[in-house]
Amino acid sequence: MTRHDHQVHEGESLKDAARDRLTKQGEQWTEMRAAVFDALASFENRPASAYDIAEAVSNAQGRRVAANSVYRILDLFVGANLARRVESANAYVANAHPDCLHDCIFLICDQCGQTVHIDDDQLSTGVRQAAKSAGFSAPRPVIEVRGTCGDCEGS
Ligand SMILES: [Zn+2]
Ligand SMILES: [Zn+2]
Ligand SMILES: [Zn+2]
Repeated sequence: MTRHDHQVHEGESLKDAARDRLTKQGEQWTEMRAAVFDALASFENRPASAYDIAEAVSNAQGRRVAANSVYRILDLFVGANLARRVESANAYVANAHPDCLHDCIFLICDQCGQTVHIDDDQLSTGVRQAAKSAGFSAPRPVIEVRGTCGDCEGS
């Protein structure tokens, strides 16, 4: 893995890092965006759909929030490295490292949906190189592993 100051955030520190990242990109940290990020982060290791998040924001604010507007904000978050899409779960997780870019690797439990996030640049660089040698340009590795998590295996 390339050496850099890899910071993994959670809780308040994650919220601060996300806000800093977004505002550095010239975007505003609006009340609605903050509410969507809070809701997304509250799912922790469980990928959430735009509908799940709209539901959580609606409950928190006591008013109906449309999944469509949540979806647009999630899209912005993914583009700004604040959130990641877990493709095989068709859902989103807050990105614990908004300050640095990685081809994040997700391990998703088939039983409980819990998702473990790992970063292994050596592995993803290998995938990029393999794609390039097969004639793919600008490859974007999506590496997701399905299986049974330690919690479910033990129970
Ligand atoms: Zn990093
Ligand atoms: Zn990552
Ligand atoms: Zn599990």
